[in-house]
Amino acid sequence: MRLIRFGDTCHERPGVLGPDDQRIDVSAFAKDWNEEFFDSDGLARLDAWLTKNVERCPIVGDEVRLGPCVARPSKIICIGLNYVGHVRETGAEMPKEPVIFFKSTTSLCGPNDDLIIPPGSKKTDWEVELAVVIGSRARYVAEESAMECVAGYALHNDYSERHWQLERSGQWVKGKSFDSFAPVGPFLATKQEIPDPHSLGLWLSVNGERRQESSTSDMIFKIPTLVSYLSQFMTLLPGDIVSTGTPFGVGLGLDPPLYLSPGDVVELGIDGLGVSRQRAVAFESLGARAS
Ligand code: MG
Repeated sequence: MRLIRFGDTCHERPGVLGPDDQRIDVSAFAKDWNEEFFDSDGLARLDAWLTKNVERCPIVGDEVRLGPCVARPSKIICIGLNYVGHVRETGAEMPKEPVIFFKSTTSLCGPNDDLIIPPGSKKTDWEVELAVVIGSRARYVAEESAMECVAGYALHNDYSERHWQLERSGQWVKGKSFDSFAPVGPFLATKQEIPDPHSLGLWLSVNGERRQESSTSDMIFKIPTLVSYLSQFMTLLPGDIVSTGTPFGVGLGLDPPLYLSPGDVVELGIDGLGVSRQRAVAFESLGARAS
């Protein structure tokens, strides 16, 4: 199954994509794709419900906004420096175990929402990533059983403001947490849709120019390792997002570095997980909408 959320910001409703990519409103079945849904065997219940009811569900127009494909989770956990080429381009040391950091959950937004460049920012950068959505509570899980805790996967752009991430007392979270810095979707593909998440092509373009192109096969630490590792430090809750790191080709790694400006258009995709598109706008241009 492929799960979407549609409607205005903070008022999204749950849907699924049909075989021909038509958007199907399933708000008659569930309130939202949230912790409660995943924690109550929601994916299996949804599958059974659709078999009987899909013909009666309304179709949603293509003009309707897509929200992030899961409701605001308890945590967005990111893995840093998880592709060899990206480690080299940043000049960092090769990690001996996973590097982890958080994004604020308020950075979450729809896949095609505008990227808001923060006030005064000159170093807003892109990072295409495979995001893992947790399906069941994970605490001290072994690698061998870690995939049982995964609901599925989604496309994520881990936007990063490099000045605040790297030049201001070493707290990455400051450069990762601005509003609109975590577009997730267009859809959550359940595990069954993606038989091997470690062999997916992923790419990103800026203004039509390809900047990132790689494969999830190049991840240093694979998904079972990451889920197991994280669960040693914190309980992963259903609906939580774990973003698995970005490959080579970020703006920071170019010579000279290249960062985003208002008017730039970023497009990205992962095999089987769709594409998303964000237009960069200046915070200052939003006026009353910014509050
Ligand atoms: Mg990242």
